[in-house]
Amino acid sequence: MTLTRNAAKCTKCGDTIESKHVHDWVTCLCKAIFVDGGLEYLRRGYVHEDDIIELSEYAPELSVVEEPSNDRISQPPSIEED
Ligand SMILES: [Zn+2]
Repeated sequence: MTLTRNAAKCTKCGDTIESKHVHDWVTCLCKAIFVDGGLEYLRRGYVHEDDIIELSEYAPELSVVEEPSNDRISQPPSIEED
């Protein structure tokens, strides 16, 4: 799935934080939680699991059709025998 928003909300201070870049490490106002990783990966930190509300969003999965490349098909050498 494609990540479109890397965000979370702290239930202690009510702050909503969002990581927008890979090295965008963001903590909430009371520093009980943090998010990191931007849209490359989800990284979370919290003191208690109840402190964090997940707000991340994903784009719907797109099906990709790959066309076969003719270059990858090796033709066996044609051998003609009399
Ligand atoms: Zn907080």
